[in-house]
Amino acid sequence: MPLDRTGLQAALAKTPGSSAEGIDTPHTLLCRRGASAFQRAAKQGDDLVVCCTQESRLFLELNGETAGAPGLQERPIRFVNIRETGGWSKDATQATPKLAALIAAAQLPAPDPVATVSYMSGGRCLVIGAADAAERAAAMLGAGLQVSVLVEGGAGALAQRHELATHSGRLTRLTGWLGAFHATWDSGNPIDLDLCTRCNACVAVCPEGAIDFSYRIDLARCIARAVRAAGPQLILLAPALSALVRAGREAGLAVVEEIFADRQYTDEGHLVPRSHPQAMVHGAEASVHHVMAMLDSAALVSIHGKRLPCAAGSICVHGDNAQAVATAQAVRAALRAAGYRLSTLPELTV
Ligand code: SF4
Repeated sequence: MPLDRTGLQAALAKTPGSSAEGIDTPHTLLCRRGASAFQRAAKQGDDLVVCCTQESRLFLELNGETAGAPGLQERPIRFVNIRETGGWSKDATQATPKLAALIAAAQLPAPDPVATVSYMSGGRCLVIGAADAAERAAAMLGAGLQVSVLVEGGAGALAQRHELATHSGRLTRLTGWLGAFHATWDSGNPIDLDLCTRCNACVAVCPEGAIDFSYRIDLARCIARAVRAAGPQLILLAPALSALVRAGREAGLAVVEEIFADRQYTDEGHLVPRSHPQAMVHGAEASVHHVMAMLDSAALVSIHGKRLPCAAGSICVHGDNAQAVATAQAVRAALRAAGYRLSTLPELTV
């Protein structure tokens, strides 16, 4: 690895708090042929930085064996890797500023120790995941901890023996820390997994195959099949990017995806829960802006600005606030002004 001695010296001399002393003679085999140079430097008792981490143990031993060299308590030796993190590349000749920066950083005083905090777990543990994976993990932890399971996402089957406290749903909030956490989830499953005896009767009788061995009712599939049973010509209006959109299409229904003018979306495309202080888009002006941003980008726009492509055909304004009518009127006017034509649902599906 080429070392630009004068370049390093010049850079370090200009860097406050660092020293270029000892760089007069760069050693490329300091742990072997140059060991005596290390020992000479060690004996001087000054601050010592070695630009190699691979052989740090060897240098520490060498320091211990060098007569007159201070012990490590008295004069710690610092090590910095300038090879893999700096100059060992095809651009090695260009790496002098980075090597100098690494050496200068190694010369900085040691930071104050970071404050530590103690936690008591109390032995309670919640495992969140797909049914079989979560139960497997819970079984591994069960010997020493009081484990509960939250079945979330994915497919998978729950064990027939029901030994753990088990819930299902989508985690909406997790706060706290080890030993004092609080988890909130949307159940979305009419079956109480803690009461379910795993008799499998519901799996056998469900005509739409909407219950699997994770004992969760696939509500999207259930609703879509029920709509189709009521009339295959019916149009299913479903939240954009939702499981209901997929289930409706699978069931052979015409589906129109709906976006919300006055609700915020998560980065995963769900509505931000109403318990969240920023769940709503407040006021007609902000709602118009939200809708136009989504239509212009043909995507849901999340609360963090993430865009999730979708084909929205319908816009919903929540009717449960005082601004709803004004918001609907403003959205309608803005759409017309932007050249959009308002259509009926049947027109959208032809
Ligand atoms: S019918 Fe289904 S939900 Fe009820 S106990 Fe049996 S498996 Fe559980």
